[in-house]
Amino acid sequence: MTIRSREIIENLAEVRGRVERAAVAANRPPSEVNLIVVTKTFPTSDLEILYELGLRNFGENRDQEGAPKAGSLPSDIHWHFQGQIQSKKLRSIASWAQTIHSLDQYSHAIKLNEIATSPIEVFVQVDLQTPASPDRGGVPILGLDDLLASLQSLTNLKVMGLMAVAPLGEEPQLAFSRLSQIHSQVRASYPESRYLSCGMSGDFEAAIAAGATHIRVGSSILGSR
Ligand SMILES: *Cc1c(COP(=O)(O)O)cnc(C)c1O
Repeated sequence: MTIRSREIIENLAEVRGRVERAAVAANRPPSEVNLIVVTKTFPTSDLEILYELGLRNFGENRDQEGAPKAGSLPSDIHWHFQGQIQSKKLRSIASWAQTIHSLDQYSHAIKLNEIATSPIEVFVQVDLQTPASPDRGGVPILGLDDLLASLQSLTNLKVMGLMAVAPLGEEPQLAFSRLSQIHSQVRASYPESRYLSCGMSGDFEAAIAAGATHIRVGSSILGSR
């Protein structure tokens, strides 16, 4: 066993312990929390170690990086894309990613719906900043209803739920409880949109407390970038 695999095994055990404790504290079964390992900037050799350990959900932020990684690794990996979407990259992204966490524009949704040959999973990214600010992506809360309504006719998109990143400088608990309330309202209208993608290395306990079903964790498992 290499030093690197040992390091990843230890980090993974620690993250799984944190997930378990956070779930138990929130009265939720830990199995409800899906761990996506965010592998951006890390070499394929690290992904091979993760694969050997049985992990199958990897997240990437850039098409230029995700496409070659996906091409060189086994086909039973489920790839997640959570970076900002560039329209001209969508066709390529859809060729390797099965779930897109960062949908925030109707024009991208239309294009994705045309490209997809089978239903593709999407999360609608919500901007939790007040006032809304476009720099980290996400649809402003005031625009969410309209975007969700317009997605309903796009039959090649499977709208899983909402995704968000806690704004810098705000307590993640506060941001995620806002998200949780918004998500409850969304679920009342769209029961299939029952998943919540939130929580990163620094704040996934708060996200789990607020109902996260998909946490996206990079540096706690693979180290600093
Ligand atoms: C990089 C990234 C993550 C993972 O962040 P870590 O702090 O490394 O856990 C999760 N979500 C998004 C959108 C990211 O860009």
